Amino acid sequence: MGALSRRIQGRVREDVARLEPYDPNFTPCDINLSANENTYGMPEQVRVAIDEAIAATPTNRYPDPMSNDLRDQIATWHGVRRENVCVGNGGDELLFNFFLAFGGPGKRLVDCPPTFTVYDIYSKMVGTSVVRCWRDPDTFELDIDALLRMAGTADMVIVTSPNNPTGNVIAAADVARLCEACPGMVMIDEAYAEFADDGISCERLLATYDNLIVLHTYSKAFCLAGVRMGYVLAAPDVIEVLGAVRQPYTVDVFAQAAAQVVTSMRGVFRPTIETIRKERRRLAEGLAAIEGVRVWPSQGNFLLVRMPYAAIVRARLRDKRSILVRDFSSSPGLEDCLRITVGTPRENDELLDAVASILKEVV
Ligand code: PMP
Repeated sequence: MGALSRRIQGRVREDVARLEPYDPNFTPCDINLSANENTYGMPEQVRVAIDEAIAATPTNRYPDPMSNDLRDQIATWHGVRRENVCVGNGGDELLFNFFLAFGGPGKRLVDCPPTFTVYDIYSKMVGTSVVRCWRDPDTFELDIDALLRMAGTADMVIVTSPNNPTGNVIAAADVARLCEACPGMVMIDEAYAEFADDGISCERLLATYDNLIVLHTYSKAFCLAGVRMGYVLAAPDVIEVLGAVRQPYTVDVFAQAAAQVVTSMRGVFRPTIETIRKERRRLAEGLAAIEGVRVWPSQGNFLLVRMPYAAIVRARLRDKRSILVRDFSSSPGLEDCLRITVGTPRENDELLDAVASILKEVV
């Protein structure tokens, strides 16, 4: 945060004065491969149906606070009951509510960096201490034994699978061990699960472990990043607790209408998801073929890459080619790393061409 005026400094909560807000580092560019959205856009037939649903939605009444129609649809989709589902204003809000409900002063979170930095920000906002179980510095795989040990005294554990920004997944068998080892709550953040190989989700463990929470979002595979819609699956009493800390009308009528349409037409997204998986492989091979570039395998719709002068390459991609990617080069453990969202074939071709020629200039 910038320097606070004296007037505010004396009034704001001390820990809030020290907060660094989340910065998506956005600059408008022709090709945006920086935020892991679905760059193929909403399929036309779904867009038409959303427009019709929104046109038929009255705005003078408050929304259904818990979005029960949508919860029922999500429950049927995942083979659970309405009582197992809570929807939120994006996955981010559900993460925050998770911290509100289960974190706070005296509580301990274990997370596995390098990972999604929002966990860190939310833990600071509610005064939760963070214990870090670092991933392998070369492969970014989890250190499962260390994680199980740390989980043994944790109030909350979050594992991101596929992990943002490294693309690794956690096996369901390890999630089961984690749920057994942890006396507190275990959240598996599956924001990118739709892009992973079949069977990656740990959802089937929900029937066995009542301390497991699985987070999903409509922002990635389902093209609703702009609408803000996410959901968690968990045991009914966990959902009740999350319901108690949420703001009552946080998911508006348009968002509920759009998500209901997307849920009922979710099969339409399958071909695009398959194309993104194919393009992920092509882009990874193309990047790895450029001298000096290392690419990590990824189960998400993004690739983590390392290259010399990464921050300069990123700036030139933005300023000379109008291509935006995410710079992680100053994040701990991610020196000289960039994260690139898998785009359309044309976007990926342009990126490959631009990286190859910029690297020739700078190295
Ligand atoms: N989890 C992870 C790992 C993410 O990368 C994101 C989005 N960047 C989210 C959760 C939250 O997504 P949203 O709020 O758009 O649903």
